[in-house]
Amino acid sequence: MKRFVYADNAATTKVNDMVLTEMLPYFSEHYGNASSIYSVGRDAKKAIEAARQKVATALNATNQEIYFTGSGSEADNWAIKGSMEFLKTKGKTHIITTNFEHHAVLHTCQYLEKHGFEVTYLPVNQEGYITAEQVEHAIRPETGLVTIMYANNEIGTIQPITEIGAVCREKKVWFHTDAVQAVGNISINVQAQNIDMLSLSGHKIYGPKGVGVLYIKKGIRVENLIHGGGQESGKRPSTENVAAIVGLGKAIELATADIPKKVEQVSRMRDYLIEQGLKIPKSRLNGGMNRLCGNVNFSFEGLEGEALLLMLDMNGICGSSGSACTSGSLDPSHVLMAIGLPHEIAHGSLRLSINEHTTQEDLDYILEVLPKVVERLREMSPTWQA
Ligand SMILES: *Cc1c(COP(=O)(O)O)cnc(C)c1O
Repeated sequence: MKRFVYADNAATTKVNDMVLTEMLPYFSEHYGNASSIYSVGRDAKKAIEAARQKVATALNATNQEIYFTGSGSEADNWAIKGSMEFLKTKGKTHIITTNFEHHAVLHTCQYLEKHGFEVTYLPVNQEGYITAEQVEHAIRPETGLVTIMYANNEIGTIQPITEIGAVCREKKVWFHTDAVQAVGNISINVQAQNIDMLSLSGHKIYGPKGVGVLYIKKGIRVENLIHGGGQESGKRPSTENVAAIVGLGKAIELATADIPKKVEQVSRMRDYLIEQGLKIPKSRLNGGMNRLCGNVNFSFEGLEGEALLLMLDMNGICGSSGSACTSGSLDPSHVLMAIGLPHEIAHGSLRLSINEHTTQEDLDYILEVLPKVVERLREMSPTWQA
């Protein structure tokens, strides 16, 4: 029997009902501008500050270190461009990152390369990890910033962020991490981990789209990306998206309430999906075992990921191949290239990202449909030989 199974939570998540309930009054009753002095404006202001407190608590930061942005992508752009603009005045023009970052980081670094900055793209190994030693060896006198993602959105690999933070602290280089996929799946403590800047996004943690956060540690100087009024201490002007900010605050509170429980439950399901999925002939798992609790990334030889996604969709299953941001392009994912997959294997990849709402019935349904679909596509392929 056909079911609907949403297994693309790394692309976006459904807004939690409790989050939506908290947001709604900020469209209707409390619609004031948070900068106004009358009471509907003050209500909005209070709600923003309460949300800021929730984000600060979740990261072990202070309220003054939390800035709301329009997205995770904006937070990444701001962290990298804004800090380098300042660091340039101190003679620091070199950035260290990896070759498998999200495009919000990678394309920002490529942009800065065209504007006089130098970037080192550290290679990840075949399982999708880098080491703190690689970072240490790449640091030069002109290095101003290290930006390395906490967990990868395609293959789920988790980087040694605490060790990298320690190296950056010792070498007096600023450290930014894109933690969009990590928040709610890994306990984060920006102070203990020596993180100077951190990006996160509302819609990856059961909150609304179009809202993000950049944490900026006290003492770190980041020039504005946007100029205008005095909102967000003048650092990120524009009339606040109050409902979305309230939603993000509630979402992060819920997502970080009991991470060990979520990880225990979801990684058990993930491991079952991996174990059973790998029974499909000529399949492989991409990424190592220190991975996000909800991330599975398979490659199947002899087929096209796009065709696989369409057939899964006809069966009510939502997954992804490459990342949502690059589908529509024929190039294989830069992440799968970075871990050294040959083109033809990278093309036949499938990411399934599950969460705590995924059920055993959902998994069994995926495992019933997937082998049939893979077999069918291989039968249709002119070049496939079993
Ligand atoms: C989704 C995502 C982003 C972008 O966040 P948006 O809010 O969609 O702009 C950045 N980095 C990673 C790792 C992501 O998964």
